[in-house]
Amino acid sequence: MTAPDALLVAVAALVTALVTAWVTLPLWRGPEPLSPPDPAALELLARRQALLAMLRDLDAERALGRLDATEHGLLREEVVAHGAAVLQAIDRLAEAARSASALRLARVEADVHAAGGTGITQAPSCAACGRVVEGGALFCGWCGRPLESGVAAAGDPAHASDRGHDG
Ligand SMILES: [Zn+2]
Repeated sequence: MTAPDALLVAVAALVTALVTAWVTLPLWRGPEPLSPPDPAALELLARRQALLAMLRDLDAERALGRLDATEHGLLREEVVAHGAAVLQAIDRLAEAARSASALRLARVEADVHAAGGTGITQAPSCAACGRVVEGGALFCGWCGRPLESGVAAAGDPAHASDRGHDG
């Protein structure tokens, strides 16, 4: 087997593997589709790569003597400042992604709670802060707000009319 043949076989195998992966990808996925890559995140990562390349170029130019120390320092400072801004933007995106997934998780938990809670007495929750409170409590134990009628006690002593015997 000559070298080009071996290369051809390797490429064919790689293409086959990729096509197989692509075709069967929907089967691996759960009910919730994977989120596509965020174009903003991709652009930021590309910018970060570009800035790192610029830093390398600047250092190379300086090493070759095409930039003097002052120019090199100024340009490097500028690139590093851009890089810091890009890194901050990446952090913000990551933070947003984290809170989005936390929100999704909270929704799933709420759905599970709702699905499992049919027919069973649901734990009462505070309308103000949303946390579970004791049944019959007049005030939320978490935020201290007065609780609405939904949390009214089962044994509410509203009718105390059976006092006093006749005669
Ligand atoms: Zn509360």
